[in-house]
Amino acid sequence: MSKQDFYEILGVSKSASEQEIKTAYRKLAMKYHPDRNPNDKTAEDKFKAAAQAYETLSDSEKRRKYDQFGHDGYQQTSSHGGGHGPQMDMDDIFANFGDIFGSMFGGGASHASAGRKTRTAGPQAQRGHDRHIEISISLKDSYTGVKHDISYGHLAACITCQGKGTKPGTTTNTCTKCKGMGQIQFQQGFFMYAQTCSTCNGQGYTIPSPCSDCNGRSRSQKQQKLTVSIPQGITPDAELRVPNKGDAGLYGGPTGDLYIRVLVQPDPNFKRLGDRLECRVLLTYPQLVFGCQIEITNIDGEKLAIKIPKGCQPSEQILLPGKGFKNLASKVNGNLIVITQCHVPKKLSETAKESLKAYSEEIGTDTTKAGDTGFISGLFKKFLGL
Ligand SMILES: [Zn+2]
Ligand SMILES: [Zn+2]
Repeated sequence: MSKQDFYEILGVSKSASEQEIKTAYRKLAMKYHPDRNPNDKTAEDKFKAAAQAYETLSDSEKRRKYDQFGHDGYQQTSSHGGGHGPQMDMDDIFANFGDIFGSMFGGGASHASAGRKTRTAGPQAQRGHDRHIEISISLKDSYTGVKHDISYGHLAACITCQGKGTKPGTTTNTCTKCKGMGQIQFQQGFFMYAQTCSTCNGQGYTIPSPCSDCNGRSRSQKQQKLTVSIPQGITPDAELRVPNKGDAGLYGGPTGDLYIRVLVQPDPNFKRLGDRLECRVLLTYPQLVFGCQIEITNIDGEKLAIKIPKGCQPSEQILLPGKGFKNLASKVNGNLIVITQCHVPKKLSETAKESLKAYSEEIGTDTTKAGDTGFISGLFKKFLGL
């Protein structure tokens, strides 16, 4: 905003009437009009300053505030009061006060020249949106990594018109109604107002012969098939980004990306805890007592030999280093933890029953004798199933 007093800029007294202000502005606007002063920066500045002053002083409410707060005070308040402030540019000036000097330059909105920003006629390229999809894989597939086929809907660039929207061999036209501005100016009372052009919907161009495949939209809905590689060790709910597989850009703009959220289904036998893989193995009482060699099958089908130590307790954790999940960042595998469980039969043959009874008589029923700590003792009363 100008530092100079608005009354001084227009060359009128503080008590000037509305008509005097309008006449003064009109005179200055004519004098410094860009059509008359091509490439003259000083004239342009004066033209802008006059418009700024007129914008305030022609509005009785703004003028009242300007008189009340003074030039500096008004500048601080005007930014909140709907004033144009320092942003007022040529477009604003012509849109708001074009009628003041319009008659001299052919009238109305026709003087779109004089350094005004004109929109390049034709569609604006825009980046396509990103697409987000979800897939679900098994815990095993997240352990091993997997190639997953996906199919999803997205907007693809129209092949027929190569994303231009026009029938091959034709072009877009600058809208004749708004001359490419996207807006129509009309007068109401004293001011000029701008309204979105209804012919081109504010686009500034029309497509006389739209591409028949995409109706001039440059893209069309397509089903896309893709095989994605899910990396080994992918964590549940991780999101994979596949560049340039989202929506095609509008009118040749860049393509968006595809984001794939990977859900991992729980497994009945294996559990994941960070990079650690956990499973439980069921052993008989003698197997735990004597210790033994067993073979288990890991989640990926690999056979692993495990040694159960002599006197192994239930809930013991046997660690197999490097057989857990691969850490995506460090590429180091976590551990597999095999947790021992004791299989307690619900039914026994008569022979087994007799053997167990004889065994029980041999070892007795007092568990406190072994000297294990960390347990409360249960005073034995009687067997139930013998
Ligand atoms: Zn097309
Ligand atoms: Zn138009």
